[in-house]
Amino acid sequence: MLNQLYDKALSLVPLSVEEGEFLYDSAPIEELMFVASRLRQIHVPGKNAGWMIDRNVNITNICFSQCSFCNFCRKKGSEDSYVTTSEDYTKKIDEMYRIGGDQLLLQGGMNPDLDINFYVDLFKELKNRYPSLKLHALGPPEIVYLARKENSTFREVLSRLVDSGLDSLPGAGAEILSDRVRRIVSPAKATAEEWLDVMREAHKLNLPTSATMMYGHIETIRERIEHLVKLRNLQSEKPAGNHGFITFIPWPFQDEGTRLREEKGVKSSYSGPGYIRMVAISRIMLDNIKNIQASILTVGKDIGMLSLHAGANDVGSIMIEENVVSAAGASNRFNAKEMQEVIKEAGFVPGRRNQKYETFLPPARPPTPLKGG
Ligand code: SF4
Repeated sequence: MLNQLYDKALSLVPLSVEEGEFLYDSAPIEELMFVASRLRQIHVPGKNAGWMIDRNVNITNICFSQCSFCNFCRKKGSEDSYVTTSEDYTKKIDEMYRIGGDQLLLQGGMNPDLDINFYVDLFKELKNRYPSLKLHALGPPEIVYLARKENSTFREVLSRLVDSGLDSLPGAGAEILSDRVRRIVSPAKATAEEWLDVMREAHKLNLPTSATMMYGHIETIRERIEHLVKLRNLQSEKPAGNHGFITFIPWPFQDEGTRLREEKGVKSSYSGPGYIRMVAISRIMLDNIKNIQASILTVGKDIGMLSLHAGANDVGSIMIEENVVSAAGASNRFNAKEMQEVIKEAGFVPGRRNQKYETFLPPARPPTPLKGG
């Protein structure tokens, strides 16, 4: 049975939820790694392993959603709540350019005081000041939230943001695409169907997107596999030639200090071998998503290196300043040199890339100098 499933996967025939669950539960890890590595070579041949430099800036930490796994969010009026100022963006972007990055990952909370005009103005201002800057910003829950607030469609919200400078949409807020799970860990956030609907619209607009999974809390193995199949089904709907999901990134729940752990007693089920298994199964199930990224910032160097032998072809960004995951206990840090050394030590060739997984080319001209601030 296992050999039949390996052959099926290697022939790029999609596996069913039941088949994926059987593989997850029953296959020896070295066999999963072998099959996933072969599939990686089919999708991304060669020894290149991707990495990038970008900077995570949080627009605001005020969020009405109050997900039980999140230590980052604050209620409106909290002493340490903030909305990032123009001066702060200037300082952070200038720092990023100095070390060679050109992309902001703009994330943050769903702040009831911020409407679509705030984001439109912010994106336009940043693009005017820094024409070569790339904005990988927001995520499906924010799009759902803004559409509700503006009484607009997802497509209208996405189009306005793209017209204002949005370059790509992160797959943030996917957690597990099961409403049973979401009702417990993030009840105020977009439903699974809404998350997928936003991505469907983004794919129609040819906006590059990524897909993610935060696992290891209250979900079942079957729900993880169903999550992968939902992503695969959506990817198969994207218009031919459009970007769709460029990559898939699984990361484990970081439980330190979260309400999910403190109040509900849910501890992260993360283990290194478990992550390797998750990466390999992702590569095997997602026959139509080219890139699989190991979240080296959450799992660390050793498991990150092994992931490259389990189907991953990328280790993500050095991510200057990361607050959401680190607020819940992740403490791995790499500079550009260390990131490349990790890849080499794993037996691969570091290939710096951009958000579209194309070879990184430095901006043709330096960023526009700022006036004031
Ligand atoms: S995970 Fe995101 S949506 Fe949930 S509370 Fe934190 S900032 Fe808000």
